[in-house]
Amino acid sequence: MIDFRSDTVTKPTAGMLAFMQSAPVGDDVFGEDPSINSLERITAAKFGMEAGLFCPSGTMTNQLAIKSHTQAGDEVICDELSHIYQYEGGGIAFNSGCSVKLLHGNRGRVNAEQVLAGINPEDVHKPITSLVSLENTSNRGGGACYNFEDFKAIKKVTDAHKLALHLDGARLFNAIVRNNEAAIEYGNIFDSISICLSKGLGAPVGSVLIGSTTFIQKARRWRKVFGGGMRQAGFLAAAGIYALDHHVDRLAEDHKNAQILSEALAQKDFVESILDVETNIVIATIGGKYSADSLVAALKEKGVLAIAMTPTQVRFVFHLDITESDLERTVDIIKAL
Ligand SMILES: *Cc1c(COP(=O)(O)O)cnc(C)c1O
Repeated sequence: MIDFRSDTVTKPTAGMLAFMQSAPVGDDVFGEDPSINSLERITAAKFGMEAGLFCPSGTMTNQLAIKSHTQAGDEVICDELSHIYQYEGGGIAFNSGCSVKLLHGNRGRVNAEQVLAGINPEDVHKPITSLVSLENTSNRGGGACYNFEDFKAIKKVTDAHKLALHLDGARLFNAIVRNNEAAIEYGNIFDSISICLSKGLGAPVGSVLIGSTTFIQKARRWRKVFGGGMRQAGFLAAAGIYALDHHVDRLAEDHKNAQILSEALAQKDFVESILDVETNIVIATIGGKYSADSLVAALKEKGVLAIAMTPTQVRFVFHLDITESDLERTVDIIKAL
């Protein structure tokens, strides 16, 4: 099977497994796992931030950030397509007791005017706005990237209103590679960033939350409360270190391949439109002889897995286990549909 369902389906490479096996480990709740300590330090340093925190999932890093930046009863501003709102099981309410102000952005991206308009006035009737959370790249937005100028404009607004600014950077390296950005610039803008190692970077498990030393101390306490304090998890952190060393630059191949698949899809009568491919995600709107479900079924019969995101949209995600020849085969299969 050629698996385009998600960039989370990757298996560790032989090189990654060998590196994991040789990792020095210790009890991380005691702060004694050298591999986790390295991963946290390396990730924070890449973004010019002070400290990092290794967690089992991106949901946990996001939820810890929200918990650490807010008080119960506060309000969080985010786009309506945000992962923190759509796909984290209502965790903003459950874990942090916060309400959300949803903005109607463009493919998951919001601008400074929208953020400003979303901030509640000083009024006893209103929840206190304390956090703005952005997502780059946007998952539901089909891998869309922010223009960096928009971050600067939003930062001016959050500074003026003393709001914390979090970035869900599950696929941040896809944006950085695509736009040739400096990671350090992100550290200058955001108070916290969550980065997934188990998406396109190809690690089996793990995300890192980065921020200031005091912020990470707070998040580390909440991680224990959430049950995320792990012991000899350095074997997993080692996979992350390996991924950061070996699997970042190659994301450009995924972006190029996604473009090629999108061009093949665009030739078909049953494809009504395709979101402009910015990174590794292709979302096509399906009509005519197929529904999203029946197209997914037809592809599956030929050995290609994709996901029906909505009744009319099919999603393909590129990652390091999709080879050039997998792409060629998929293009041939699509041509013949
Ligand atoms: C995948 C993803 C996450 C985290 O997901 P986990 O499965 O919990 O690791 C967070 N944000 C975005 C945008 C994602 O795509």
